[in-house]
Amino acid sequence: MTDAVNAATTPTPRRKPKPAKREIGGRPLKPSTLMMGHGYDPVLSEGSLKAPIFLTSTFAFESAAAGKRHFEGITGIREGGAEGLVYSRFNGPNQEILEDRLAVWDGAEDALTFSSGMTAICILMMAYASAGDVIVHSGPLYAASEGFVAKTLSRFGVTYVDFPAGATREELDAVLAKARAQADAQGGKVAMIYLESPANPTNALVDVEAVRDARDAALAGTPIAIDNTFLGPLWARPLDQGADIVAYSLTKYVGGHSDLVAGSIAGAKKWINPVRALRNTMGGIVDPHTAWMLLRSLETVELRMQRAGENAAKVCAFLRDHPKVEGLGYLGFITDPRQQDIYDRHCLGAGSTFSVFIKGGEAECFRFLDNLTIAKLAVSLGGTETLASHPASMTHLSVPQARKDLLGITDNLVRISVGIEDADDLIADFAQALETV
Ligand SMILES: *Cc1c(COP(=O)(O)O)cnc(C)c1O
Repeated sequence: MTDAVNAATTPTPRRKPKPAKREIGGRPLKPSTLMMGHGYDPVLSEGSLKAPIFLTSTFAFESAAAGKRHFEGITGIREGGAEGLVYSRFNGPNQEILEDRLAVWDGAEDALTFSSGMTAICILMMAYASAGDVIVHSGPLYAASEGFVAKTLSRFGVTYVDFPAGATREELDAVLAKARAQADAQGGKVAMIYLESPANPTNALVDVEAVRDARDAALAGTPIAIDNTFLGPLWARPLDQGADIVAYSLTKYVGGHSDLVAGSIAGAKKWINPVRALRNTMGGIVDPHTAWMLLRSLETVELRMQRAGENAAKVCAFLRDHPKVEGLGYLGFITDPRQQDIYDRHCLGAGSTFSVFIKGGEAECFRFLDNLTIAKLAVSLGGTETLASHPASMTHLSVPQARKDLLGITDNLVRISVGIEDADDLIADFAQALETV
């Protein structure tokens, strides 16, 4: 037999992976470095440099006693969850590597992955809310998140109190007092403070530090969760400002290529464990193939987001001075001093998703959109390609007019997510499309 055949037929001894290296000589390694190796040792997979995709529904136990231990962890009889792989509704190698790497970006102790951002958000809320409880949330939220609270959780006796994204500490104190009174009247508790920042499509930022201070003063022990899809993981790290749980649609910047749907949450184990238990029951974990795609995406997430952010800054600088543009909702050009203060304390970059207000209304916006050649007309954001849409007639069509007015969703608003194309090509495309308006 040749060496090659020998190597292929001799089983690799089952060695334990090397302990993960998170620092060199006291220097903590950066997430961009860790994305290439953290959580995976080729020794486990015949030396395969990249993790294989593990297509299996179940995992063989080393012994009957090991099987018992696994189930003690899964069912909560023993603290700390499953120690090994058990069954693919609970966990799998690709998902565990992905969860380890996602936790690195947010500086979190633990992370969980899901089949979509909405699966993550729904299971998160269900894990914390019981009948009689109140969820406090910033507004507006992603429409499906808002709908889940108002239309679905309400059927199970969970009510909500919402507040505008830009609320001050004083306003937050009043909102939490109201929520507490509402919970008392219903015989429940305030289950969660749920935030989304920046709000879509207004780009209003939530003051997470003020929310934390208000929570500590009035509702100590109540978790603060935040949807960080628009700015994470590069441009905002809300766990650093006092959020307990961060949620993502990985479909957007993290996946980044508009070719998959997935979600995640991250935070301290004590906050993540109840969500893991419900995910074990319900399912909703991301599949191995999508997890593998996301591992590939994570290797370039910093490069892609940096480039998209630079492109957006150049495109917005061009749009700001254009005679056919009335205004911009871009975090790089904030005009409100309080919003600027929140930005300075919370954000590491202005992102690449913003609103352009075209002079005119729907007809002018449609002419602009129909004449774009590089940007594609599609909802979603955070992909390598530039996308443009008209919220008033598309994503927010079903929002009642009064609420649209309140949220500033006007007929002349175009939503743009800038990708990683050449910035000057994008500017040329926007320039010629604006000519036709
Ligand atoms: C897209 C999105 C979601 C939902 O994520 P899916 O992956 O589509 O389920 C939630 N929140 C925000 C802010 C989003 O943009």
